Amino acid sequence: CGIVASVSTRNIVPILVQGLQRLEYRGYDSCGVAVHADGLKRARSTSRVAELQAQVSAEHLEGGTGIAHTRWATHGAPAVHNAHPHFSHGSGAGSNARPGKVALVHNGIIENHDELRAALQAKGYVFDSQTDTEVIVHLMDSLYDGDLFEALKAAVAQLRGAYAIAAFCKDEPHRVVGARAGSPLILGVGQDHSENFLASDAMALAGVTDQIVYLEEGDLVDIQLGKYWVFDRQHQRAAREVKTVHAHS
Ligand code: GLU
Repeated sequence: CGIVASVSTRNIVPILVQGLQRLEYRGYDSCGVAVHADGLKRARSTSRVAELQAQVSAEHLEGGTGIAHTRWATHGAPAVHNAHPHFSHGSGAGSNARPGKVALVHNGIIENHDELRAALQAKGYVFDSQTDTEVIVHLMDSLYDGDLFEALKAAVAQLRGAYAIAAFCKDEPHRVVGARAGSPLILGVGQDHSENFLASDAMALAGVTDQIVYLEEGDLVDIQLGKYWVFDRQHQRAAREVKTVHAHS
């Protein structure tokens, strides 16, 4: 339903949670936030964003790179284990288990989730949720070879359906990648030219930045500290105008 994500040098969790609050009007059944903080850390709730906020404070969840989500369930009941962000936890069981690397949020529906799940299970991936979304995070994990953007490119080539995606990786602490196909996603350029954001709606970033790039259908995006890149569906570097938006909250 709603996405907010960022790469920053300050603790960005309050901004992410505030962004979710600004998207609450769309409706949702659960919410969550994950940050890069000495590995992947997250808090998820089937209650209101205010409850998530309390959880985040109690657990001292802090970080500069993060992704947040409000979910409107399409596949899998509204429940904490189905709430986003989803984490990959690597293939293999027991002593062969490999720690997971990728954290991901998704809006939309992946239509070929059954066949992707079966292929990933055959490779040893164990699923924690009943969502269509979880196939994307394990798919990216399986394709990851040191460059999260390359893993995203290879993963979206296998996805059918509608999606806006934001993801980060344990091994690349100052990077969030995203994709847009059938669900909206915008890029927010931070005021101080170091932090950058992704969101499903510019309203989520009201008061944070008014410098917005509207991504186009099929776009892929790579945000880092003080820099970002947009690529079109042919994987060509795309110039997208930065617009000054006056969001009303
Ligand atoms: N299809 C996904 C799920 O059920 C995402 C739903 C949404 O857009 O919030 O988890």
